[in-house]
Amino acid sequence: MTKPVLDHMGETKLALGPLGDRPGAAEGDDWLSGIDETGIAWLALDRQGHSVNTISQSVLRGLADHLDRFEQDMPKAVVIRSAKMTGFAAGADITALGDMSDEGAADLLKQGHDVLDRLAALDCPTICVTHGAALGAGFELALACDWRIAVEGASFGFPEVKLGLHPGLGGSFRLPALIDPTEAMTLMLTGKSAHTAKAKSLGIADVVCPERHVAAAIAAIVAGDVRRDGAGLVSHAFKLGPARAFAARKMRARTAEQAPPEQYPAPYALIDLWEEHGDDPGAMQQAEIASFAHLLTSETSRNLRRVFFLRQGLKDKARGDDGIAHVHVVGAGSMGGEIAAWAALKGKSVTLGDVESDPLAAAMKRAREICGDKHLNRAETRDVLDRLVPDPQGYGIERADLVIEAAPEQLELKRRIFADLGVRMKPDAILASNTSSLPLTELADQVTRPDHFAGLHFFNPVSRLELVEVVAHAGTAKPVMDRLAAFCGAIDRLPVRLRDYPGFLVNRALTPYLMEAMVLMDEGIAKDVIDRAAIDFGMPMGPVALADQVGLDICLHVSESLKANLDKPMPDISAALREKVEAGETGKKAGRGFYDWSEGTPHPEPRAEGPDGLADRLILPMLDACVECLRKDVVGDPDEVDAALVFATGFAPFRGGPMHYARSRGLSEVASKLSELAERHGPRFTPDAGWSGFG
Ligand code: NAD
Repeated sequence: MTKPVLDHMGETKLALGPLGDRPGAAEGDDWLSGIDETGIAWLALDRQGHSVNTISQSVLRGLADHLDRFEQDMPKAVVIRSAKMTGFAAGADITALGDMSDEGAADLLKQGHDVLDRLAALDCPTICVTHGAALGAGFELALACDWRIAVEGASFGFPEVKLGLHPGLGGSFRLPALIDPTEAMTLMLTGKSAHTAKAKSLGIADVVCPERHVAAAIAAIVAGDVRRDGAGLVSHAFKLGPARAFAARKMRARTAEQAPPEQYPAPYALIDLWEEHGDDPGAMQQAEIASFAHLLTSETSRNLRRVFFLRQGLKDKARGDDGIAHVHVVGAGSMGGEIAAWAALKGKSVTLGDVESDPLAAAMKRAREICGDKHLNRAETRDVLDRLVPDPQGYGIERADLVIEAAPEQLELKRRIFADLGVRMKPDAILASNTSSLPLTELADQVTRPDHFAGLHFFNPVSRLELVEVVAHAGTAKPVMDRLAAFCGAIDRLPVRLRDYPGFLVNRALTPYLMEAMVLMDEGIAKDVIDRAAIDFGMPMGPVALADQVGLDICLHVSESLKANLDKPMPDISAALREKVEAGETGKKAGRGFYDWSEGTPHPEPRAEGPDGLADRLILPMLDACVECLRKDVVGDPDEVDAALVFATGFAPFRGGPMHYARSRGLSEVASKLSELAERHGPRFTPDAGWSGFG
């Protein structure tokens, strides 16, 4: 659901100059336009039929028509802004990029560049006013203006690298010309956004003000009362080739720590462009167009755009009214505390219960930290903390529309909690459990209203991992599943609907991967070698480090539970894992597991070479489990599997998800590789019967 960013800030009206009552929008026209009494022309972007602005071909064509007019009859100044409360513009309309050829894309880009060049060359001050996000092509539109006014809360960024691309509408030369080029490159290479204060200090925004002062800020710029510092000495230094070559080497090394070039070529292409043409904007422009068009047809970009659409797909399934105003969370531990904080941050009224007071205090502290991470200002943070109420007595249970149980993973304890909730909850309220490994069917026997009971399985940390498994047991009512999916949408998480199954989908798929890593260690292969193989495949961290991060006690518990409940052979539980848990070395939370975490996140040796086929031995069982879940109708379709594994585990996004990877490698090829592994290492690798039926 798209929220109006200004409403959040207590301002409910945009300053739209002469467009106050929004006249002049012709049918199908994306721009509202008008001239105010002082001779300033206003253009407000309002893509019809879209809740959020994107920059499409028609938007640029419409802008070109207005530029025709201005070039004939120059206004005193031009103000460009968005007429949508949801923000400025979310970037290019990537649906239009589709399966475009190199040449087709280059032609389209040239037309776009032409329009922005004309805007940049206009012989009057051009002022872009942004509120909310100005991303990608939206940011490039803002950069083509002379001045930028950022309404408090605005942010600017180039997320193109996340789609296997780099800026393509002039960002690669306009931003480094405006601010310190190394800061510009960092923004473009990381895909991170610069929020208001940072945007001001970097020199992206000339003025920062609340919405109600926008008109005054425009008047000050037009009157020549606003000064800007140039990018200064740093910019000049990078006009020299050797300085750029030196900086480019450092950028490549830093980028390689996050994304190897063979998997993610876009950032390296951008560094090459800058190193080669950083002193010549004209050459940079031509090179940017050619490079963008080339990247667009790369496998990586196609797969990353696929992941973007998978996210959209899950969001679309999260629409609707959840009917949930008040949430009560039982258990303020690592999961319950974050779930409660996150729901409050997204506008829900939340009470949080626990039998201990320390977890409640820790949860409030964590909530404040999450507000900081999400760039909330002091007033917004105060509002979030007001909505999150520690409630040791559980007074909120009677009022809650949804109760989320996040108590320790013990059946008997959960049973007692459900019995208490049963007599206190409103009759039509929903009860959801965050259990990772207890069968919902068994839990459903313990609740008062099984039809209003389901699993709501969040991932750790909730504020970073977007996926939520919404799990039905045989008796869950469909409208309850709809409301839970809508609840996930309302709190900006991505729901995937599942049927109850051991490990649901994600843990079912992930557990054989983690367990195989332990078996490999038992066979004498070093943990660095194992983790390196997974990272080289594209996983964000290796399975041994991941097991440490999840908690070895939790891994052991989930492994035992899956081994007991699945009708398929699983790897033996590693002796080393048991020993670690018995010794209290449970991973990151204990400071030590298989790795030593006392000095921060461990990094496996970069040159740790393993035996041939090591990655297959880790990854293919994960794919096989996904196929099993599809065959057993645990999950709706292969796209949902891909989305779930990417958004919950970070499964190599440039491969487009596990099922997409299996398809591109060849389903029969994968199945026969599994058979080969089964011959060598045992029946746990025997391919699932579903491989022949899925395609
Ligand atoms: P935790 O031990 O960190 O927190 C549990 C909290 O519940 C503790 O603060 C404890 O004091 C409190 N509690 C105990 N009895 C209670 C009672 N009767 N009433 C209210 N509170 C009570 O555990 P956690 O890691 O947050 O896990 C909670 C649930 O979430 C478990 O079902 C677990 O399987 C599941 N889960 C955990 C993770 C994870 O990575 N930790 C991920 C997904 C799901």
